[in-house]
Amino acid sequence: MQIEKYYHKSDALVVGTGLAGLRAALALADAGIDTITISKVYPTRSHSVAAQGGIAAAIAHASDDSTELHMWDTVKGSDFLGDQDAIEMFVNEAIKTVYEMEHMGVVFSRMPDGRIAQRRFGGHSRPRAVYAADYTGHVLLHTLFEQCIKKKVRFFNEFFVLKLVLRDDGVVSGVIAWDIRNGGLHIFNAKATLFATGGFGRAFKITSNSFTNTGDGLALVLREGLPIEDLEFVQFHPTGLYRLGILVTEGARGEGGYLLNGKGERFMERYAPERMELAPRDVVARAEQTEINEGRGIDGKDYVYLDLRHLGAEKIKERLPQIRELAMNFLGVDPIEEPIPIQPTAHYQMGGIPTTKRGEVLGDGKTEIIPGFYAAGEAACVSIHGANRLGTNSQQEAITMGRISGQAMAEFVKKAALFPIPKEAVEEAEAHVRKYLEGKGSVRPFELREKLHEIMTGKVGIFRNEKDLSQAVKEIRELEEEIHHIHVEDKGMKFNLDLQEALETENLLVFSEVIAAGALNRRESRGAHYRVDYPKRDDENWLKHTLAWKTPEGVRFDYKPVVITKYQPQERKY
Ligand SMILES: Cc1cc2nc3c(=O)[nH]c(=O)nc-3n(C[C@H](O)[C@H](O)[C@H](O)COP(=O)(O)OP(=O)(O)OC[C@H]3O[C@@H](n4cnc5c(N)ncnc54)[C@H](O)[C@@H]3O)c2cc1C
Repeated sequence: MQIEKYYHKSDALVVGTGLAGLRAALALADAGIDTITISKVYPTRSHSVAAQGGIAAAIAHASDDSTELHMWDTVKGSDFLGDQDAIEMFVNEAIKTVYEMEHMGVVFSRMPDGRIAQRRFGGHSRPRAVYAADYTGHVLLHTLFEQCIKKKVRFFNEFFVLKLVLRDDGVVSGVIAWDIRNGGLHIFNAKATLFATGGFGRAFKITSNSFTNTGDGLALVLREGLPIEDLEFVQFHPTGLYRLGILVTEGARGEGGYLLNGKGERFMERYAPERMELAPRDVVARAEQTEINEGRGIDGKDYVYLDLRHLGAEKIKERLPQIRELAMNFLGVDPIEEPIPIQPTAHYQMGGIPTTKRGEVLGDGKTEIIPGFYAAGEAACVSIHGANRLGTNSQQEAITMGRISGQAMAEFVKKAALFPIPKEAVEEAEAHVRKYLEGKGSVRPFELREKLHEIMTGKVGIFRNEKDLSQAVKEIRELEEEIHHIHVEDKGMKFNLDLQEALETENLLVFSEVIAAGALNRRESRGAHYRVDYPKRDDENWLKHTLAWKTPEGVRFDYKPVVITKYQPQERKY
């Protein structure tokens, strides 16, 4: 079969059009840089659109909040693994981000006096979440998209990036993508490339993430022989709709909702007597899972209740309209009348592509900047969230780091040359697609994906141990072998969703091995990573970031120190 090729040039390239990608594109366009964005879905379908509860900033409208408090809460929330220089920068820039978004036209919810309202969120000691009802991501994303259109950013929507072009001289000069709609390969050559490819929740069976969140960016980076940082830290959100994983925002607890077990008890009393339901997510998710494992789920089953009834119909309709709709549509439960059945759901990756505070990707994970390569948003690891992210810090990171990375790229592009794309890179991308289109295997992609889901949720979930994790690594490696022998039914290149599923499944396998191996390797419990066989945090041996590379023999590890400026690690109590 003939595969058509198309060539494009631009100064800057942004892969991903969620909050991070669009904010970066806007910063580039503002600096007069010719910018192309690529996304496998239409921009406003990026997962950012699903963000509900809010975006954190110490604008102190509803309390005596300060950037110092925001910093301390984030450091403590991260279980002291977050880099404090990055966190300090982040909390200061966060305030600017909120006002900037407001001035672009975002309609945030208001206090009676007309100022921007703020609500409580887990792990934040003050009401710090700025929000637009429970559609915060939706309004932020649509506003950024409009601004990018206005500034003439060039969009390539429904293009699937297959390969990052890392040249032999260590320079990144673009990407190669498949045009999902029309078929053919497109070669994008640019002076600077940003990965804002989002999260990896779809590696798990129960997840809040959209179908697009298959961690493609991580797999592409690992394939080029580059490291990924801290991938063992996976956030499980305490309130996913039972069996579906669809998210019920923490804003529901921020507004006063509480959790009940099968005996009708507010069980958080036993786990976080002070903060109760508004302890950080790692603490609440573990508490919930413990209740379930010890038979105190509802009717002894694997779920508990989130009760909002006492908030009253008016508040629920005004502040949490989407949650109500989701609960009614998917579970047939109206939260005004009944409690919502919920269980923990895989939600967010704390780790990612290691970058500097300007979004520059680090080739050795430590100090060596790769010319022309940037990463931002959930795909990147700066590291602001350390071992556990606080709710509402992620949209904030995506937009703030998107802006900062876009500005850094604009500076770089003005001085940089355009390095061509080697023809071997194009051949490699083509071979990758042909492997599936021309393969003669018999296993179907979804079968492998289902097996992976069982492994990840069953053995690499909230509670982890040596035996299960070793088994998980072994089983994932077997699946990585099998993927080369799968059968893709559709042989065409236009809207071949079977092909897309195969490509994404391979990507899931590539980085899932890193999650499992990293979890096996880290013999302590910290933040979201909990080892029942090593239940204590071990600062002496493990107060360090993991860097992981894929090798044919398995995952190779190295480490780098945590940046500690103001706050020494201490016991974490809530
Ligand atoms: C249900 C839900 C609710 C949330 N609520 C909140 C909240 O209230 N507050 C908060 O702070 N955080 C929240 N989060 C987290 C937060 O929304 C995300 O971390 C953040 O929006 C990620 O933004 P992003 O720009 O990094 O990635 P995304 O928005 O996920 O965008 C990724 C982009 O990459 C593109 N892409 C990926 N792979 C490829 C490929 N191979 N080729 C081409 N394009 C590709 C996609 O098309 C997409 O455009 C929530 C998350 C979920 C799932």
